[in-house]
Amino acid sequence: MPDEEAKRAVTIEVNRDLCTGAAACLVYPFYEIDDESKAVLLTKNNLNSDDPRNTLAKGGVVLIEDMQNAGGLPLEEIQQMAIDSAKICPFNAIIVRDAEGKKIWPPEDDF
Ligand code: SF4
Repeated sequence: MPDEEAKRAVTIEVNRDLCTGAAACLVYPFYEIDDESKAVLLTKNNLNSDDPRNTLAKGGVVLIEDMQNAGGLPLEEIQQMAIDSAKICPFNAIIVRDAEGKKIWPPEDDF
C-alpha cells in the first residue's frame, strides 16, 4: 500500500463480548459468523470466493483485514463501507479506527 493510502487506512475490529450474532453486518463484505455465532472479519485467508456475501470482495477487495485496496474499489469507498458497516450494528460491537488508532466509530460516551 502506498504511504499516502496507508495514512488514510482504517481498521475494523469486532468486540466479541458485545456481538450477539444478529448478523446485520453481513450485508457488508467484511464479515462472516463463526461457529460461536460471533462476527469475525473476513481475511484473505478465510475468504470463500463462492460465498455470495463476498460479491464486493470478489470485485477487488482482497486484503479486507487491513483495508488494503487490491485494485477494485477506491480506498475512500472501502473506508466509508467500513464505517457504515459499524454503524449498522445495533450493539456497537464493531469498532473502526483511523491509521493512528483513534476511534472513528462508535462515538465515545458523553458521560
Ligand atoms: S451486527 Fe453487530 S452484533 Fe450483529 S453479528 Fe454483526 S457485529 Fe455482531
